[in-house]
Amino acid sequence: MTIRVGINGYGTIGKRVADAVRAQPDMEVLGVAKTRPNFEAERAVAEGYPLYAAVEERVDQFAEAGIDLAGEVEELVDAADVVVDACPSGIGAENKSMYEAHDTPALYQGGEDADLVDVSFNARSNFSDAEGADHVRVVSCNTTGLSRLLAPLREEYGVEKVRATLVRRGGDPAQSSRGPINDTLPDPVTIPSHHGPDVNTIFPDLDIDTLGMKVPATLTHTHSVNVELASDADTEGVRELLEAESRLFVVPERLAIDGSGKLKEFALDAGRPRGDVWENAIWGESITVEGNDLYLFQAIHQESDVVPENVDAIRAVTGAADRAESTATTDESMGVGFDI
Ligand code: NAD
Repeated sequence: MTIRVGINGYGTIGKRVADAVRAQPDMEVLGVAKTRPNFEAERAVAEGYPLYAAVEERVDQFAEAGIDLAGEVEELVDAADVVVDACPSGIGAENKSMYEAHDTPALYQGGEDADLVDVSFNARSNFSDAEGADHVRVVSCNTTGLSRLLAPLREEYGVEKVRATLVRRGGDPAQSSRGPINDTLPDPVTIPSHHGPDVNTIFPDLDIDTLGMKVPATLTHTHSVNVELASDADTEGVRELLEAESRLFVVPERLAIDGSGKLKEFALDAGRPRGDVWENAIWGESITVEGNDLYLFQAIHQESDVVPENVDAIRAVTGAADRAESTATTDESMGVGFDI
């Protein structure tokens, strides 16, 4: 059976999810919905995605821009087996009643509140919780990055406590109105930040404190992580454990990737679409175990790490595959994992 997927919201996340869905052997992009004509709407049509108007009153704007529409968003939602809502934060909540009215299971993104949905999702950590669910939230880029890292550590060693400082990019490259442009902000200045509680939507019993910052950068977030492990570990053992995970890229020293700039350049050189880095990029040299404390730095490409997770969540809600089969298919079809 081919899973017919509608994508509502065709921006940073939506366009990447569309391309990833199209790459799957068991999925089809039924169409994408946009609120207004712009370069992304024109690209969607050029890519061959049927384009639907997300707002009825704006249908004329597409005609004026010379863009052919396949219809309006409700038609897309009605015909789809699953909708991926990739609208700006809070709009997903407004759209929920539309998905319910058409009895179409929906995935939401990390900008929505956890209590909007039945399950918050990370493929590595809790795939089976989303099986058959109607409303699932693929957690944020930061929560995805922390969950992927913590899942194998919890399984192998047990985790007593996590302390992480999230140095967050001020905005995505295309977000011309975001900042700061010359500042370093404790953000939020209160401690802990909301990120730890968000990780608790994946691991409810985890003891985690997070601190947030915002800096004038657009390429990635960078996490400084300390994990207090519950049993004996050494640096080499942790490194091997992390290297075995398909969505963790332990950056070898020999590549001389000293930061997010070279990481993105490496991804572009490797032929990644849009220079995307779907994996957590963990600096190999930073992995250090002192006593029971593990320390490391990881970069999280905020625009793309949630993309394979959305693909897996589609299979979870439709019951199309279990975790192992789904993640293997997703990774193979997208090309997750650098060939080094
Ligand atoms: P974006 O602004 O790049 O894209 C959102 C798209 O939705 C835009 O094209 C916008 O025009 C469109 N839109 C607005 N209202 C709409 C409506 N009513 N119906 C249909 N489309 C509508 O935003 P984004 O960065 O892709 O973020 C989308 C979601 O993903 C948010 O919940 C965000 O928190 C989450 N997220 C973003 C990132 C990131 O770094 N960009 C990372 C992980 C998760």
